[in-house]
Amino acid sequence: MPTFKNLSLPNEVLENLNSLGYSVPTPIQEATIPLIREGEDIIAQAKTGSGKTLAFSLPLILKLDEKEQSPQALIIAPTRELCEQIAGEIQKLARYKSDVKVVTLYGGTSLTKQVASLEKGADILVGTPGRLLDHFSRETIQLEKIKTLILDEADRMLDMGFADDILKLVSNLPKQRQSLLFSATYPEKIDRLTSTILKNPIEINLQSSETKADIEEFVYRVDDKDKALLTTLKHFQPSLAILFCNTKAKTVEVSDWLNEKGFDVATLNGDLEQYERQEMLLQFANGSLPLLVATDLAARGLDIEGVDLVINYDTPMKEEIYTHRIGRTGRADKSGLAVTLCDEYGLRKLSEIKPNLKVDAIDTLKPNKNFYMQGEVGTLCIDGGKKKKVRAGDILGTLCKDIGIDNKHIGKINIYATHSYVAIDKSVIKKAFNGLKNGKIKGKRLRVWWL
Ligand code: ADP
Ligand code: MG
Repeated sequence: MPTFKNLSLPNEVLENLNSLGYSVPTPIQEATIPLIREGEDIIAQAKTGSGKTLAFSLPLILKLDEKEQSPQALIIAPTRELCEQIAGEIQKLARYKSDVKVVTLYGGTSLTKQVASLEKGADILVGTPGRLLDHFSRETIQLEKIKTLILDEADRMLDMGFADDILKLVSNLPKQRQSLLFSATYPEKIDRLTSTILKNPIEINLQSSETKADIEEFVYRVDDKDKALLTTLKHFQPSLAILFCNTKAKTVEVSDWLNEKGFDVATLNGDLEQYERQEMLLQFANGSLPLLVATDLAARGLDIEGVDLVINYDTPMKEEIYTHRIGRTGRADKSGLAVTLCDEYGLRKLSEIKPNLKVDAIDTLKPNKNFYMQGEVGTLCIDGGKKKKVRAGDILGTLCKDIGIDNKHIGKINIYATHSYVAIDKSVIKKAFNGLKNGKIKGKRLRVWWL
């Protein structure tokens, strides 16, 4: 049995891992952590949901020099949401150290605010390629002291859309550095780029030896996709599901239609403002809107607990897109279901990228017509967060003690820099809303919205 102890980690790290509920390392963690600590460059491949974030974050945190003032690590990821998620995971893993500063840098949010947080000091930068390059050309980030470069979802990062920006950034990093590439998939064509980024990399591929992610895959031949979609949802009866479309317009169309049919839907696509993207994802993850309709924006890296069904409403055009989409379920040691709905054209496409999937007729499913996906909770947004020193305990205190809401009716609480969100059972949300509006948190009156 592998243990974190075998990886000769300091005691305070072991204690923190334990408190986070990580008892044994996953295979990719066991394989890469020692090599990364020895300073090797690595190209790592392991299935979706296998704990790659911790594999690259833990050695990075161990390596931080507390006396250094400039950023020491640069992590590049393809989407804003993934940057936030990685930064959050690093903060949890680094909480045994006194003051590790992680700064996220991505588009759709104010440059000035990002510059302000950079000025307060940053140890680790996590960003998307475009915005990072933007900061670099304005000379608002310092890259001279970067010792570690990490590309998460590396193949996506190096495909056509991102390669130029990445290479520009990388050419401005110190030559003496460690570079790490992580992903679940690597198409051949990225080889050319890896040689300019990595030095004598060690390739670790657990994709073939490891058992595959525990995802049961179904494909249905359908004529009427919308009808088939309802059948699928009402047959499998998921608690949290993600549905993928190939275009932004389609996500809106499908969301509207599902709303009309009585489903509580969150929509995620690149046309939304950044705050809307965040609120959509948050309401999905806390169960207020249990069905997420998204473009491939949500296909890479996102780790949302409890997703038990992924639906390809539109057939993905590449094998790796298929792999990453369905990889939003069956994460860590959980299992999941993936359903692809195909018309004739879709079936032809799918057989090119995934030739071995069995195709069934949709009428083999037994839908329960009374099943709907509706959030049992709603979300309240509070106009105060970390900057006003609001903590989850403060919100709980006001809700339970002052307003008289039962603890069991309070769901996830998320605290951000300037806002907080709390999920509350719909049976008492009105009471909670009015109570918060007229009450105080930490002795202060704060504005409240019902999303
Ligand atoms: P990947 O990047 O490989 O797709 P993630 O890093 O997002 O996977 O991790 C997937 C999930 O597994 C996360 O919820 C994470 O907290 C959890 N996880 C990571 N390492 C461990 C571990 N050693 N034991 C248990 N759970 C873990
Ligand atoms: Mg990942």
